[in-house]
Amino acid sequence: MKIKIIPEKCIACGLCHLEAADVFDYSDDGIVKFYNSNQLEKSFPETSSLISAVKKCPSSALQIVDDKNFNSR
Ligand code: SF4
Repeated sequence: MKIKIIPEKCIACGLCHLEAADVFDYSDDGIVKFYNSNQLEKSFPETSSLISAVKKCPSSALQIVDDKNFNSR
């Protein structure tokens, strides 16, 4: 699944990191970023913790992007 982060919407609540610490990290100002990456979109294996992190984000700063190619691999 491909995840998109929208840093302008992030309120630095820390929830996504609690749900999926291997995917989400924070910049020095507490705003979300991908772990070990400055990309804004990245593909990851679909896991319940990752879906939960996206769904629980209170400000919709995380989105699941339609990524048909990923499923057909
Ligand atoms: S859950 Fe959403 S608002 Fe909270 S830190 Fe993560 S991206 Fe930012």
